[in-house]
Amino acid sequence: MTTNNPKAVIVIFGATGDLANRKLYPSIYRLYRNGKLSDNFAVIGVARRPLTNEDFRNNVKASINDFDDPNIDPDEFASHFHYNPFDIQDLEHYKALESLITDLDKTYQTDGNRLFYFSMAPNFFGTLAANLKSEGLTTTEGWTRLVIEKPFGHDYDSAKELNDQIREAFNEDQIYRIDHYLGKEMVQNIEVIRFANALFEPLWNNQYISNVQITSSEVLGVEERGRYYDSAGALKDMMQNHMLQMLALIAMDPPIKLTPEEIRSEKVKVLRALRFFNEDEIENYLVRGQYDRGIVNGEELPAYREGNGVDPESNTDTFVAAKLLIDNFRWAGVPFYLRTGKRMQRKSTEIIVEFKDLPMNLYYDKDDDAQPNLLVIHIQPDEGITLHVNAKKGDYSASSTPIQLSYDNNAQDKMNTPEAYENLLFDCMRGDSTNFTHWDEVALSWQFIDIIADAWSKKKADFPNYESGTNGPKEADELLKKDGFKWWDVSE
Ligand code: NAP
Repeated sequence: MTTNNPKAVIVIFGATGDLANRKLYPSIYRLYRNGKLSDNFAVIGVARRPLTNEDFRNNVKASINDFDDPNIDPDEFASHFHYNPFDIQDLEHYKALESLITDLDKTYQTDGNRLFYFSMAPNFFGTLAANLKSEGLTTTEGWTRLVIEKPFGHDYDSAKELNDQIREAFNEDQIYRIDHYLGKEMVQNIEVIRFANALFEPLWNNQYISNVQITSSEVLGVEERGRYYDSAGALKDMMQNHMLQMLALIAMDPPIKLTPEEIRSEKVKVLRALRFFNEDEIENYLVRGQYDRGIVNGEELPAYREGNGVDPESNTDTFVAAKLLIDNFRWAGVPFYLRTGKRMQRKSTEIIVEFKDLPMNLYYDKDDDAQPNLLVIHIQPDEGITLHVNAKKGDYSASSTPIQLSYDNNAQDKMNTPEAYENLLFDCMRGDSTNFTHWDEVALSWQFIDIIADAWSKKKADFPNYESGTNGPKEADELLKKDGFKWWDVSE
């Protein structure tokens, strides 16, 4: 693994798209500004439309307009960007691209290192990988790596087919599958909080933890993404990747070393220990929902089925709550409740670890205020940790009251907290695949999700079943209530 200032020609396929403009160029800029990239880098933007280098550089400059850093000359930064009009089917275009990469490699002295970033619709990925190989672009004196965007398939079979196609051209250790949640500072912090504190790890098991709650809620609906979303839904769009990845990080055993292989191996063990449900059991463990109309911030919003590109009879889930069980020594008997949805009450991703009550708590009888201890990991939009403990009430009584010990990651150094894509691009350029998903993880996640998706596709749900601006269907509350728990709303 190389350290700082990696050198490479970065080829972005889909360079005129939303992701490239909103996330990738600003991330490259931040790496450049923070001294993580030396001058030995070039970016080649690839897409169909016939832009000139100047047009392209103007787009890049527009995407970093908000930064306005007096120490960085935007023209100097943009001069590293080059545009290459391209049709994926046309093999001649690959030859032209190869010659541009070779030229830029010489100009910027990038040691033959190539990073291909597939930021376009997934149906192009297979052809693109095959053509890059057949036209010789994957053979170089330096390293060659592929970053590939989500979604990685829409079920196990399609994911396997895509993987087989890509593996024809790239080895597994050259493939960096993006799950941008893994680039988030506080998701990366899960391991540090767990494995760098004597306080938590000894308690991190079924003897001391009663349940774990992972919530990722959005206030927005599907907006302009209705057509795509209607074929996916919350289960495939969020649960299969981001939610199961956070679960694996929370539940994994300590790796013997902090290497990508050792960490992955522990995560894979968690996914292997997930209890798979059969079709008849699913309704006992999962709740699906779809948003109805509702009032959000004083505005009446339409139902999901009334959205652009959405089937008016759609059976697609915009909300999922699940009770998952990990059948291993550490976690037997501890429910992991996962919940994700659109048009919910607030935008937030957080993990709450609820500790068991003391065998005898002298204060519970006296005071209803006493709460179980909670460790809350705020992933977004707040970044931090809050530990809920009980302390003496500030009055003359001997009763207790919950207090919170908080750490706000943003408050430390807001300007310099890296963005997810910035972290991930930098990791890839350094050859660190820790925060990317390995095929083994993708395969196991899809195998788990497929059973649920199949069962749901066979049985039409009674949708819509939750009002916009709420916390999902009431059955999601029941899921915890029947176990004697409740979803904690720790924002209050
Ligand atoms: P997008 O805005 O639709 O952009 C697609 C890009 O592909 C454009 O640059 C388009 O440029 C290019 N393109 C389309 N057909 C082409 C062809 N035949 N040959 C060459 N280039 C072609 O898509 P996006 O939102 O940026 O998403 C890109 C990828 O990121 C997708 O896999 C998506 O699932 C994933 N993703 C996006 C987001 C996001 O926030 N946008 C979030 C998570 C994941 P031309 O029209 O000029 O060819």
